[in-house]
Amino acid sequence: MATSGNTVLPVSPTLQPSAENSIPFYRFNLLSRFAEIEHLVFTRLGGVSLPPFASLNVSYDTGDEAPRVRENLQRIRNFSECSSFIYARQSHSSNLLVLRQYPSFDPRVSYPLHGKDGFFTQLPGLLMMIKVADCQAILLYDPTKKVVGIIHAGWRGSVNNIVAKAIQLMVVEYNSSPPDIIAGVAPSLGPCCSEFRNWQKELPPHFSRFKLSANHFDFWAITQHQLIDSGVMRENIEIAGLCTKCHPEAFYSYRGEGKTGRFAVVVAIKDI
Ligand SMILES: [Zn+2]
Repeated sequence: MATSGNTVLPVSPTLQPSAENSIPFYRFNLLSRFAEIEHLVFTRLGGVSLPPFASLNVSYDTGDEAPRVRENLQRIRNFSECSSFIYARQSHSSNLLVLRQYPSFDPRVSYPLHGKDGFFTQLPGLLMMIKVADCQAILLYDPTKKVVGIIHAGWRGSVNNIVAKAIQLMVVEYNSSPPDIIAGVAPSLGPCCSEFRNWQKELPPHFSRFKLSANHFDFWAITQHQLIDSGVMRENIEIAGLCTKCHPEAFYSYRGEGKTGRFAVVVAIKDI
């Protein structure tokens, strides 16, 4: 365990723990090399929500009190010092949004967008957030074309290969070359806890090579495989290696807790 301020965060092989203003967070080693981008993997700590949502819950759809969620979102926005902020009511879809203009929305509205599970932009100062509790938030950055992306991949996203769709979008929309792309997979359900009793119905046959025991699958390895299959280089992929269900002190876990919050993973090109 690593101490971060007054908070003890679990140790990851690829994430560096830190804390500012009593809000702990992590950053990936590889993505931290690029000073022009900001990325933050928040935890469940440092917010105002009460149990079972304690405390930095960023989802309005959990049963938490909306004013507390709003305050938590404000803390995340303030933290990044970005001038613009975007997130959506996610829907386990493969709908990805290219942001070529700064979004504006009424802050009294809970969600500016519905049914989007990924964002991409070259605009500076536009903070893009994915909310998770076991699902994977995957950060993408092409330092050559200066485009950042973030996607939400639960098991349905993995089945639909949202990873390949995201890389393809970067190629088509931004002329990215996949070997240039850096990817970070945030804390999520690990192979230790990814039990799928109905895997024969829910998962495609080619996932069987990632089956570890009778019903357990390694979705971190699935994502890595999908990234490499899309042309991303193995050495440009960082997997946090932290299981959300195994670390309820730091992360929300839907599988572990049922009624719980969602933690935030964000990325932006910095305002210059
Ligand atoms: Zn686990």
